[in-house]
Amino acid sequence: MSQPKIYYFDNNATTRVAPEVLEAMLPFFTEHWGNPSSAYRFGHQLTKSIEGAREKVAALINADPREIVFTSCGTESNNSAIHSALVTHPAKRHIVTTAVEHSANIKFCAHLKKQGFEVTLLPVESDGSLDIHLLEKSIRPDTAIVSTMWANNETGVLFQIEEIAAICRSKEVLFHTDAVQAAGKVKIDVKDIGMDFLSLSAHKLHAPKGIGALYVRKGVRYLPYVIGGGQEHGRRGGTENVASMAGFGRAAEMALANLSDEQTRVRKLRDRMETELLKRIPHSVRTGDREARVPNTSNVSFDGVEAGDVLKALDQLGICASSGSACTTGSLEPSHVLTAMGISAARARGSVRFSLGLYNQEPDVDYVVEHVPQVIAKLRGSRDHAPKK
Ligand code: PLP
Repeated sequence: MSQPKIYYFDNNATTRVAPEVLEAMLPFFTEHWGNPSSAYRFGHQLTKSIEGAREKVAALINADPREIVFTSCGTESNNSAIHSALVTHPAKRHIVTTAVEHSANIKFCAHLKKQGFEVTLLPVESDGSLDIHLLEKSIRPDTAIVSTMWANNETGVLFQIEEIAAICRSKEVLFHTDAVQAAGKVKIDVKDIGMDFLSLSAHKLHAPKGIGALYVRKGVRYLPYVIGGGQEHGRRGGTENVASMAGFGRAAEMALANLSDEQTRVRKLRDRMETELLKRIPHSVRTGDREARVPNTSNVSFDGVEAGDVLKALDQLGICASSGSACTTGSLEPSHVLTAMGISAARARGSVRFSLGLYNQEPDVDYVVEHVPQVIAKLRGSRDHAPKK
């Protein structure tokens, strides 16, 4: 079945599997399909491939390979870090996180709250930034862990991870960062920053869905979340997804090599697209800080329209974009991230996220810049509450 051309601007939701990644994975379906835990070489030799992949994922964040635990996704990595902090410190029942986290964190914390844990959800400023003095003040003697994202999936806004890590170190509290949207977009050096846990997800980096990693700093006590066999050096049960691990390894290598492309070419494309959209569409605003954000993300709010209608119209033109996180698409609720930034419900409901990546080119941006203004004008024309010009 041939697919009509798509203009993919939803790289924060997921990314296309790179051909190089697929190539790295294929042998594990066709030739090397054994179980790494087996006693015979046909299976056991796969441990070398796993360790090779682990080294490459570690290199992306300047970690030691022994500090990397493969998981099934970013969600599991976030859950596992918080879970481990709580079970290794049973007397500490307080968690500090923020109001703009991904549901992989916020919903897990809501679940923990129901179990009797206390959760502080820190507010953010109107530009999406975090008041780190407030964060410092929120840490208590019974705080088990501080968990904040590095880059926001909806706005791309970056938190001051280095400063947050330093505060947590000085207060002797564990610090986890969800770097799912930061990896491959900004330089990550865990040794430099000194966090205790860091989450990664491969499908945001041109590898397949269903594989992630958790960095656990050497010396930090860790208890597994998924309990079963002794895989992952006893830190995560479950027969290893060797093909996906190999794909993740290759993707991590590529992400490291492509970091400067992301920071120059992708940033330039994003900035041109955003500037043109804001110029051509009256009553439109960017949401989130312009500077302190990842180079690929643009969140623009169009007054007088519903993002759901915009996305449907864009879909007809082959443009894939999103209204906030994929997990909330389809719900009528305005995004919790934009709401936390103090953006009105009406404006939040008109917000569209464009997220670029490795495969976006100039003509894709030309296409968006040409068609999005027409779509908004048409939708506004068909609505009673279109803004007055
Ligand atoms: N954290 C952030 C910031 C994300 O954007 C996502 C996915 O969109 C996740 C966590 C969850 O990752 P996964 O889809 O691998 O579970």
